[in-house]
Amino acid sequence: MTEKSIRVRFAPSPTGGLHLGGVRTALFNYLFAKHHNGKFILRVEDTDQNRFVEGAEQYIVSCLEWCGITTDESPNTGGEFGPYRQSERKSRYRKYAEELIEKGFAYYAFDTPAELEKMREQYKSEANPSPQYDSKIREKMNNSLTLSSAEVQERLTNKEPHVIRIKMPASTDVTLHDMIRGEVSFSTDQVDDKVLLKGDGMPTYHLAVVVDDYEMKISHAFRGEEWLPSAPVHVLLWEYLGWKNEMPQWAHLPLILKPDGQGKLSKRDGDRLGFPVFAMDWTDPKTGEITKGFKELGFLPEAFINMLAMLGWNDGSGEEIFKLNSLVEKFSVERIHKGGAKFDFEKAKWFNHEWIKRSKTDRLLPLVEKVLAENKIQASSALLSELIPMVQERCVLLSDFHTQLAYFFIDPITIDTDSISPKWNESKHDFFNSWKTGLEGLTDWSTATIEQSFKDAAEQAGIKPGELQLPFRIMLVGAKFGPPVFEIAARIGKASTLRRIDNSLALLKA
Ligand code: GLU
Repeated sequence: MTEKSIRVRFAPSPTGGLHLGGVRTALFNYLFAKHHNGKFILRVEDTDQNRFVEGAEQYIVSCLEWCGITTDESPNTGGEFGPYRQSERKSRYRKYAEELIEKGFAYYAFDTPAELEKMREQYKSEANPSPQYDSKIREKMNNSLTLSSAEVQERLTNKEPHVIRIKMPASTDVTLHDMIRGEVSFSTDQVDDKVLLKGDGMPTYHLAVVVDDYEMKISHAFRGEEWLPSAPVHVLLWEYLGWKNEMPQWAHLPLILKPDGQGKLSKRDGDRLGFPVFAMDWTDPKTGEITKGFKELGFLPEAFINMLAMLGWNDGSGEEIFKLNSLVEKFSVERIHKGGAKFDFEKAKWFNHEWIKRSKTDRLLPLVEKVLAENKIQASSALLSELIPMVQERCVLLSDFHTQLAYFFIDPITIDTDSISPKWNESKHDFFNSWKTGLEGLTDWSTATIEQSFKDAAEQAGIKPGELQLPFRIMLVGAKFGPPVFEIAARIGKASTLRRIDNSLALLKA
């Protein structure tokens, strides 16, 4: 292979929300490119007009941006090898398809949909339940291999609808070197004569992917394992077009499996098991149906890509927490697993929790402000910067900051009296009633003075402070969680503390 600079592409089709497997493909392409100081290119494969979905391209771009996966060349930013949207490259493909016909590797096919249907019926047998347009069948169809050249010319001149198909050789082994799997061989008998150029003049994926990878000088391509069966078609096209030495090195990434390991993880599994499968919320433009994403559920992008990187890769050290730049530094194809990786939502949340715990306050501040604003709580940035470090250890999802912080701003809506009642009695009731007077008299309202006053009052009442602390927490927070209770009291202020004690005592009649 001639020495090429490293140019790697992510080539999604804009057909809907971006599955986490798609983001992992983008990520591995990106990590490989950046590890080798190469370029990462976004190419939008939108030649299938039937599957095109409005807004899907912008959605993909936003997902990559959210993940911090930056592109060097893309439809939006352009680049030396543009356009980067296949529909805008339409005029480039026909000449290659015709070149293949001239060389005897492809042919015109004029069969109508009804004729194709008839063929499928006619040749259906027990041994061959779904007959394909292949080396045996093509002899019996309307194409430039069976029709006279005069008739072919006439049909072309009359602009009769037609496609161009690859002429797959019969019973030939095609071998491909995959960076993850090593040598992979396919028999051409398993592959039909794929359409290369469609009736509307658009190329199919098979032709477009080869032409574009060639024209864009792509050196390496990581894509999902589901594309492996198409690989022999691509290898032959590279060969037939005389570009074999320019072919990118392939890596077919193992599937992301359902949690039980039984098959590929689908959007439906997410709906069924209650976790997202898309990177961000996706709204279907036709039905208006919203599919939940990791972002909106409260994932940090750092955690999301860290989790994805570990689905099928590790650095061998046992370490699991990596920033994007250390993933770039450590990434190696040799350490990508061959087998599928089971998706585990609990583990995904573990990554998010780790990342929230490790994040600096500045990183979390705007995200927490947003979570609170969505819940109609306005808080000053200065105050939030002090509160975030007090609770971040307890937040698994960003949305948990609402639960963990709301009581600093508003009185609890419900109070878990059930957790207090079993050990509640008159003396405890009296304690809080009289301690209130002590609190009222405090001139210096601080964590230390409140705690001291609490201890003194408990001693006077002859009750162990430990027995009073949980009720006090529940009075302020509404439930059994949160940072040290005297700190909470100091933050919410005297009036609020006294009011919450009162409200709770009313519910806790001794
Ligand atoms: N457009 C294909 C997809 O949607 C890309 C496959 C490839 O990377 O070759 O996944």
